[in-house]
Formats: sequence, structure tokens, C-alpha cells
Amino acid sequence: MVVIYLISVIVSSGPVRRFSKRHFEKDAGWKAAAPGNEDQWPGAGHRLSERKSNSKAHQSLGEGGCLCPSLGLRSLEEHVIYLLGPVSMDRACSGVATAMFVVPEDDIRSLLADRSKAGRWRTALDRITPDNPAGLEHVALLIRACRTDPDALGAVVTHAGRLKSEIFGPAVKLFVPVYISNTCVNECLYCAYRAPNVEMPRRTLTEDEFRREVLEVTGMGYRVIELVTSESIELQEPGRLARYISIAREVLDQAPASGDAPEVILMSWALSDEEFAAVRDAGVDAFYLWQETYDRRAYAAVHPEHVPKADFDWRVVVFDRAMQAGIRKVGLGILFGIGGWEFDVLALIAHGRYLEKEYGAPPDALGLPRFKHAQGIPIRDAPHPVSDDQLRLAVALYRLAFPCSHVFLNTREKLSLLLKLLEGGGSEMNIACAVFPGGYTEPVRDRQFDHYSYPTDKTVAMLANRGYRPTHFLAPTAQ
Ligand code: SF4
Repeated sequence: MVVIYLISVIVSSGPVRRFSKRHFEKDAGWKAAAPGNEDQWPGAGHRLSERKSNSKAHQSLGEGGCLCPSLGLRSLEEHVIYLLGPVSMDRACSGVATAMFVVPEDDIRSLLADRSKAGRWRTALDRITPDNPAGLEHVALLIRACRTDPDALGAVVTHAGRLKSEIFGPAVKLFVPVYISNTCVNECLYCAYRAPNVEMPRRTLTEDEFRREVLEVTGMGYRVIELVTSESIELQEPGRLARYISIAREVLDQAPASGDAPEVILMSWALSDEEFAAVRDAGVDAFYLWQETYDRRAYAAVHPEHVPKADFDWRVVVFDRAMQAGIRKVGLGILFGIGGWEFDVLALIAHGRYLEKEYGAPPDALGLPRFKHAQGIPIRDAPHPVSDDQLRLAVALYRLAFPCSHVFLNTREKLSLLLKLLEGGGSEMNIACAVFPGGYTEPVRDRQFDHYSYPTDKTVAMLANRGYRPTHFLAPTAQ
């Protein structure tokens, strides 16, 4: 009742300043500032701190009653933002009902600390089938088992590999990343494209350059293109991102068919409702975005607070905005090494389960890039390193929790490890990889992070020799 009352007062009080990300940047005079020149963003830090955490907001909505005296909320606007979060502030103004994901932090921590049923992991594992996927409790039980039982990892990985074969057979879906821009307003401590890295050459492809790049990768055989962009001010001009999507769509639709439907995947910043509507209308098939970590404190430690990406809450509900805009294929992921991996895997699974329940669509893909060093970044080593075996376990757990989703492998890893990950549950991977705009037509050495790029023809042949069937791919000789 309190919420309904507050919303009705705000809506009836005339024009209300919307706390959307777009508005926030406009108000703050956001620009691609020179590194260290945060003064060009007046009030930015203040505005960000105005966005209250919405995790407590959800709890308080369920409990009823007003928490304002203890929370120090002053204005009516602050009350609504606290109670509903920034996204709902928009929706409150437009009168649209909304749903938003909340990380079940306490539940996850107690599941990881639970010592009961430790010896029953084999029974739990045997019961996991495509029709009966692993729940959070099962996943936590298997993680705990792998800490102490030397037999557990092999058994979990083997079971996940069996499930993968049951669903996908020998198919391996191939994709190729194509970068549009590496100009970025953010300062993620783990990324060479962070704004303060003055040594990094910056580039945003023109539409013609981009078309050439897409033609190049379709000529190499790829039919799933992951468009990647940093949080670039240029690309935030209305309609600009949508035009790149239309170009990719057009080139793919005109390329000789491979037998599988071509796809345009977008991986960009955490888009607003309006931006989602624009890319949907331009023909995007899927939207992927990595949360990096679901642990708020670990997230804050690597995302300086005066830039947009510092807004954990805006990012964590991005798939609600995507799904509500009608984009039903979404990809979730963690940058392994930033937060504790066990917590993050469980949080990601909780997130995927929430999307499945709320919108009737499980995640299209689950990503697991691992921290790699890059030139010009202030952290040399991962704050929470993840071993190869832990990565294998994470792939397997994703498969057990979401048997029909793609587990998305990437060329941050050596080919020998990628093959093990494919055996243990992976189903989608890239082979050729340029992480600089224009990297396929004009190869350059600058890179966002250390990675490999494998020759497409030889690697596809090697996969086929091992019994895999690469999909969404048409060899150049067959074009
Ligand atoms: S990770 Fe993305 S948002 Fe962060 S600095 Fe790099 S390109 Fe920008």
C-alpha cells in the first residue's frame, strides 16, 4: 500500500525527473573524458550514490512497512528509488509493472557453508537428468563434495558431458566476436580499454569499415556474429547501435546459408529500455552481458564509483529490461577471478532460474571468461584466482543446472583446455578471435586482454576429426 501510494503521488505530481541511465549521463554532462579528468563529469559520483541498492528494496516490498527513519531517506523521490530501484522509477512513471532479479546472497552463503548431506553427492548427481536439472542445493552440494572428495570432480564432469551429448549430440556451435568500438567511459581495473589507459589506441569503426569486417568473417565461414562494444559515447547516439545491427543482419542474410539460422548477438553495455527497443527492431537475435561478479563488494573493488558501470543494480537487472523488451535470448556470465567463484556460480544459476521462472525462457548461454592480464591495467593477478579444474567444474555445473543452454567457451583459454571443457559440458565456442575494432581486416597487436586466436580451417578440421560437428559455419570452399 505504501508503494502504491508513493507511486500515485509521484505520477500525479506532473513531470518527474526520470532516473534512467540516459538521463543520468545527460545531467552529468557525461563525456569521454581524458584519463584522470573526472572533473569533466560534474556531480557524477553524487548521482551514482543517489541510486539506492534495490536488493533491500525487494525485501522491504515483501515485508511491508516503511524503513525510512532508519535509512535516512529524505525526499519522496528517494523513497521510490529506494523501494523500487532506478529501473522501477522509470516504470513507476510510465505505470508499467516490472520484475527484477535480486541476488539471494544470504541463501547462497548458507548453502555453501552447509555441512549436511556431504556423503550423498553421488545420489544427487545420478538423479540429474535433462528433465530434472540441478537446483541450487544440488549445485552447492556438488561444489562442497569437490572440495574434499578426490573422486567428485571426475564424476561431475563425466555426468555433465553425458548430458551435453544427450541434448546436443556432437554439435558445437561456432561464433566469432567482432568489435565495433574500444572507446570507453568506464575504468574497470581488469580491462585495457579502461578510459585512463592513454597508451591504448582508440577506434570506433565507421559503418563501411564495420560492413567490411562482417563480410570478412562471413567469408571465413562464420554465421553467428557476436557484436562487441565498450561503453562508447559515440555509439549511444540514438539509433547508432541499431544501424550496426542492421548491417550485420543484412550481410548474414545475404551470405550463403550454412543450414543453421544465422544469428546476431549483441554484447555491449547495460542498455536502457529505449535502447533495447531500438536493437530489437533492428533485428538482434540475442543479448549477452557478463555481470563480472555477483558479489557487490568484489564488484565495487574493481569498478571505480564515478563511472556508469559502477551501478551494480542497473546491471544486474539488465536481462529484465531485455526480456521485457521482447529479447528472449540472453547470455549471462561471470568474469572468473574477480569474486569468489563458488558464490558467483551459484548466483548466476539463481539468476538464470529466475529468468526461466519469470519469463519462461532459460538463458541462451552461460559464459565463463577467466581473468587474464592485459597491458595498462592496474591489477596484475586475479583477486580470486580460478584453477583449470575449477573452471572445468564450473562448466559442468552450468550444464547440470541448464541442460539445454549453451555453455560459452572462449579463446582466453588454450585449445587443449577448451577441448576438455567441450567434453565436460561446453557447447558453443569461438576459434578465430580479434579483440580490437577492425581486427580481421587490418590485424593489429593491441588487445583488451591476453587471448589466443586459432586458425579457423585447421581447428574446424581438428574438431571434425575428433567427432564433433561444427554448426553455424560454412567452409569457404563451400561458399
Ligand atoms: S570491461 Fe568493458 S566497460 Fe570495462 S573498461 Fe573494458 S570495455 Fe569498458
